[in-house]
Amino acid sequence: MTIATLQQDAPAALQLSSLVDGEWIDGRDIAPNINPSDLSDVVGEVSVATRADAEAAIAAAKAAAPGWAAASPYVRFEILDRIGSEIVARQDELGRLLAREEGKTLAEATNEVSRAGALFKVFASEPLRATGERLTSTRPNIDVEVVREPVGVVGLITPWNFPASIPAWKAAPALAYGNCVVLKPAELVPASAWAFAEIISRSGLPRGVFNLVLGPGREVGQAIVDSPDVAAVSFTGSQATGRKIAQACVARGARFQLEMGGKNPLVVLDDADLDLAVKAAVEGAYFSAGQRCTASSRLIVAKAVHDRFVEALAARLKALRVGDALDPETEMGPVVSQEQLDIDLSYIEIGRQEGAELLLGGDLLTRPKTGFYLSPALFVGTTNDMRINQEEIFGPVATVIQVDDYEEALAVANDTGFGLSAGIVTRDPKRIRHFKAHSQAGMVVINGSTAGMDFHAPFTGRKGSSYGPPERSYFAREFYTAAKIVYGS
Ligand code: NDP
Repeated sequence: MTIATLQQDAPAALQLSSLVDGEWIDGRDIAPNINPSDLSDVVGEVSVATRADAEAAIAAAKAAAPGWAAASPYVRFEILDRIGSEIVARQDELGRLLAREEGKTLAEATNEVSRAGALFKVFASEPLRATGERLTSTRPNIDVEVVREPVGVVGLITPWNFPASIPAWKAAPALAYGNCVVLKPAELVPASAWAFAEIISRSGLPRGVFNLVLGPGREVGQAIVDSPDVAAVSFTGSQATGRKIAQACVARGARFQLEMGGKNPLVVLDDADLDLAVKAAVEGAYFSAGQRCTASSRLIVAKAVHDRFVEALAARLKALRVGDALDPETEMGPVVSQEQLDIDLSYIEIGRQEGAELLLGGDLLTRPKTGFYLSPALFVGTTNDMRINQEEIFGPVATVIQVDDYEEALAVANDTGFGLSAGIVTRDPKRIRHFKAHSQAGMVVINGSTAGMDFHAPFTGRKGSSYGPPERSYFAREFYTAAKIVYGS
């Protein structure tokens, strides 16, 4: 499939297949990849990979591992930089593809693709920058060297909500530090991963170093997780799948890291700039249709400003333009799938039954093209013990929890099994300092949205949100290299 084809307004369905040992291979069945903004638009036809294909990909990665581990740092730099440059150069076209298959707006999708390219460029220079350490021994005539080596074959298992940036922030450091990769993207978003693999396949990377398998998680993902030849698994997705992966990796002694969901609080205090608070709430809770692990789905608001905040937020939400992801006017696209839409609607019903007041939204919307359109939903009069405040919904649904003061706001913010991101809107430097120190989230945002972190900064959560070392930035080295301590002169 060429660039020209991708750029057409109504392009033919892409033929998507897996990349194993440098070859595009046919799988077992064909599955359609549907545009959630327009269910008549088939973005791609996926040739679905099998367990045997995943095993072949792992074998290819294993065979390629010694060569790539020994490759010159300059070779690794050049290849990763080339991959990053092509992704950045094609960000409009690839952003359009991402928006078509996932449903986030064109602006969000293009930005995501550009960050994915930038991540390759950031990690391109890591091989050239890699340093070792040398310690002075307590014994004479002995040096102690700490060297970093690749871990071997790494399995990367990624979710549907960031089809470009999450594969990039795992694959770029994995390759930079000399590992071989088997990437298994979520079934809902094969096209972005395929486009990404197509670029990598022409980058000069030796065959087998990067492999892509497009197939179901329970079969292809499980094969990666269970394989004794996969030394490490980096996973982003739901808690339920993360726990299964953890058990399998522990059982066979494999290294693993998990980034899972969130139920992130945005605290709005009595001295808050309310315009800023509403902007942070709309961006944090509703952009990308709320389908972000960092989404601020719990809005914890001081009594003194509660009514004014809710009124302003409701007015803004009523005006939010929900529509086709490819329409430049759209502010919020559809939700990703029928399954996710059903989950969102079921939680809206649960909220009603729990006694929360659905102030607005939660309605299926009709648009010129049939898609999974849901109006942004806002619950008020909620308490933190309700299921809608404890369980991740992963849709355009937020709740307001009224609190008396800062102390109660902090307690409510931390009263969750998750701990990914947390935000506070206030002008008080003392409360800001206190919140920074006492929030139990891995990432804290002051006077801004809880979602939309810098691509070059570490990414991490606490409690049920994450397990293992943070991702990205200098922390990536901890996961993608193994230390060796050498004694001798
Ligand atoms: P899932 O956990 O359903 O799937 C994630 C990935 O795991 C998919 O590629 C899936 O494949 C695969 N998978 C499923 N079962 C297995 C298995 N048994 N063995 C190995 N792999 C498997 O999550 P979603 O894709 O639905 O993503 C949404 C979730 O991800 C939300 O809970 C969200 O909070 C979380 N998330 C967390 C982020 C973070 O950094 N903390 C960032 C983004 C999302 P398949 O699609 O084929 O089922």
